[in-house]
Amino acid sequence: MADASTKFCPKCSSSLVSFSVLDGTMTGTSSASCGACSWKGALNELLSVPFQHDFTSDEAMLHQLKVELRNTIAKGAGTDLAKLLMRWGFVSQGKPEDMKVRLSRLLEALATGALRELLLEREKIEKEVVR
Ligand SMILES: [Zn+2]
Repeated sequence: MADASTKFCPKCSSSLVSFSVLDGTMTGTSSASCGACSWKGALNELLSVPFQHDFTSDEAMLHQLKVELRNTIAKGAGTDLAKLLMRWGFVSQGKPEDMKVRLSRLLEALATGALRELLLEREKIEKEVVR
């Protein structure tokens, strides 16, 4: 179990909110939006609820973590990864739009697999610390 907080839309209470934790850390004013209703506003307007969780209990939080992980991978190593995946035959030469879709799916799979292993390893580490 770990401490975390999840964020909700101030208008409809949905957890389908999108926001960047990195943009507005200092000011809390980065933009946030709700995927369930049309609400748009600042990060610090979102309702925040602290909770205890295990890694199967909050899909919305996991999804957000995965999105950030995928974006970090894409930003930091996207070009090199694309080259590697092409060299190893995961993406064959073709129409640029097809290659883009294929690469995007592979990146998503990479983030999903990495997230699974990250959570398993964190669980192992936390169990070691308790003993
Ligand atoms: Zn909403």
